[in-house]
Amino acid sequence: MANRDDVSRELAKCTECDSVYAARQWPNGDIQLIGNDGCPCGSAEFVLVDDDDKPASDGTTAE
Ligand SMILES: [Zn+2]
Repeated sequence: MANRDDVSRELAKCTECDSVYAARQWPNGDIQLIGNDGCPCGSAEFVLVDDDDKPASDGTTAE
């Protein structure tokens, strides 16, 4: 596993129109689309799409 960055690449789905985009999730949980500021439909709410079955193993739960 190459841990070059703290930012993980994910897929994010628009909660309004179900469009899926490449996105990055920052360590603080923020989801930001790659190459877009938001969905063309006007929504800025996205949920992560879990395509592969990787277990959620984040050791950084310091809040
Ligand atoms: Zn949308």
